[in-house]
Amino acid sequence: MANKGNIGVTTENIFPVIKKFLYSDHEIFLRELVSNAVDASQKLKTLSQSGEYSGNTDDIKVKVSVNKEAKTITVSDNGIGMTAEEVDKYINQIAFSGAGDFLDKYKDIANSIIGHFGLGFYSSFMVSEKVEIITKSYRDGAQAVRWECNGDPEYTLEETEKPEIGTDIILHIDDESAEFLEENRIKEMLDKYCKFLPVPIVFGKKKEWKDGKEQETAEDNIINNTNPAWKKKPADLKEDDYMKFYHELYPMNFEEPLFYIHLNVDYPFNLTGILYFPKIKSNLDVNKNKIQLYCNQVFVTDSVEGIVPEYLMLLHGVLDSPDIPLNVSRSYLQSDSNVKKISSHITKKVGDRLAEIFKNDRSEFEKKWDDIKLFIEFGMMSDEKFYEKAEKFALIKNTEGKYFTFEEYKKKIEPEQTDKDKQLVYLYATDVEDQYSYIQAAKGKGYDVLLMDGQLDIHFINFLEQKFGECHFVRVDSDIIDNLIRKEEKIESVLGANEQDDIKWAFQGVTPEDKRFYVVSDSMSPEDMPVVIVREEFMRRMKDMSAFSGGTNFYRDMPDDYKVIVNTNHPLIVGISKDLEKATADKRNEINAEADKLKAEKDALDEKMKQYKTEDEKPVEDKNRLDDLRKQINENDDKRRDLYKEYGKSQKIVSQLFDLALLANNLLKGESLSKFVERSVDLLKK
Ligand code: ADP
Repeated sequence: MANKGNIGVTTENIFPVIKKFLYSDHEIFLRELVSNAVDASQKLKTLSQSGEYSGNTDDIKVKVSVNKEAKTITVSDNGIGMTAEEVDKYINQIAFSGAGDFLDKYKDIANSIIGHFGLGFYSSFMVSEKVEIITKSYRDGAQAVRWECNGDPEYTLEETEKPEIGTDIILHIDDESAEFLEENRIKEMLDKYCKFLPVPIVFGKKKEWKDGKEQETAEDNIINNTNPAWKKKPADLKEDDYMKFYHELYPMNFEEPLFYIHLNVDYPFNLTGILYFPKIKSNLDVNKNKIQLYCNQVFVTDSVEGIVPEYLMLLHGVLDSPDIPLNVSRSYLQSDSNVKKISSHITKKVGDRLAEIFKNDRSEFEKKWDDIKLFIEFGMMSDEKFYEKAEKFALIKNTEGKYFTFEEYKKKIEPEQTDKDKQLVYLYATDVEDQYSYIQAAKGKGYDVLLMDGQLDIHFINFLEQKFGECHFVRVDSDIIDNLIRKEEKIESVLGANEQDDIKWAFQGVTPEDKRFYVVSDSMSPEDMPVVIVREEFMRRMKDMSAFSGGTNFYRDMPDDYKVIVNTNHPLIVGISKDLEKATADKRNEINAEADKLKAEKDALDEKMKQYKTEDEKPVEDKNRLDDLRKQINENDDKRRDLYKEYGKSQKIVSQLFDLALLANNLLKGESLSKFVERSVDLLKK
């Protein structure tokens, strides 16, 4: 008897919907058919175990074959099969209220919902002009049936002959989908979606090289590993097994992962998997999206955004859970309670595992720290729960290459590096070579200097300042060391206030015009350097942070500012100051006399102006004269500065000391450098 009927979609034809909305991901049809076949096989095994089926289930497998001439792909299984009633129930009655609803609701995520809406089988129509099902149920005396449908809601269902129980699904591939008839394309899809299915999947025969060419053997070519590592008990696996599995997952990735975490939860949700910490050197984004998500060993996606926290997306490995809803949008995922639980469970596990390694083998942990620190800093900054765990094992490294936990380090520096305001000062460097002299200066004072040269460190420093409280981080070269950690009141200055101001201008005279150097005087210790160049912490940090985030930005586009500090207690500076005061005495006296004259006249006029109550009453010529006087006073001041600047320029030793400070910062280059060398030789001649 041949049975004709209409497939039970209530409002509209489902097929155009399938074709249209699943367009981008046509290849998943194979995943859907193979997983149905795997389900049917496993069901038969279960029935056999419970005694409801007495036949042999040893040779259970799923076979995929392709016939390019006939343009067919066949997926065969020897699972439970279906009776005519079952075909009618499971295949003909699609569990949908209407295609219209489907269309509106799930446009974006159509591909991920297929399996979950009983649409799995129908995805075969994305690539087929006709689909046949030939199936025979495991039930005693069952009649084999053949179902056929060519893509409109009409189908035929008739009795047929089939010796073995199980199901063959035969796809007659349409012209647009001819690519799927290529053996390599099928291999690629099987490798992507079916690599770890729990039932052997056979695709063709094993091949071997014989007589100079590749020849088929008699042995089935099984494409999957039916018992992947994440499904095994952690106790049954050794370190080596985890490493092997990593390479099975990423055949093209030759680096060994640093650590692994085996996840195994069955309550209150079901989750298994193995996560690996890869070596992350640079570019964060390239490393993302390596975790593969499975649902009962069927590959679903490698885009795990929303399911695992962002910083965990840097990990590699597999997650397998039937409890992650795939039939919803990504934004919904984030608010789903199961997903939240899974995500926080993973965070907890990752934290626990790292804490365990830290506790059991600190030296191993320290060895790998530089490679995992990017990930951990990222995690600590983005997840409070993770921070709580990680603050106990996160390490900071000093410029001598020693590692400390936060607490250890605090204890270490507290006695020496607490300033007069009870603030703990963390000194750091970003480059041991470039900032060498500053690091030495700090060490000379008995201070310790951290090395913060990681990609995220500049942000991490900001973050830690807030977390720790009552502390701040300063880069060693952002001021002279006594200013970085202010202990007591300032050292007395050998030079008087005027001399301090004058000498500053002598040095300003030798700074290059094109860079932003501003000179200040400071009474440091006579043992400190005569001239020091620094970049102040706040501006530099803002610039560094905005450089990291890219785009145009106020801070990043500001020119670099350098502060030049002249140590007015250094014997060389004291000497220059004395000479300067002497050499400029005549001219200075003139300028001062002029200044006194101008000031006297201005004071007198200011006094006179006081008698007028309103601006209008003041005589115009007096107001003009006052403006004029102010201008002259400024000009006179400029003259004085120019006098000192000229003096500075005329003195080799001023240039020499400034250049030495530049040199200590790696700022002396090109022509200036060669001038410096020549001048040095000149000076040595004397
Ligand atoms: P889902 O697998 O999500 O339930 P499908 O449309 O893929 O949705 O399949 C519908 C039903 O058809 C299955 O639940 C199963 O009962 C039956 N079925 C599909 N393929 C097979 C098969 N190869 N062997 C036995 N039953 C099958």
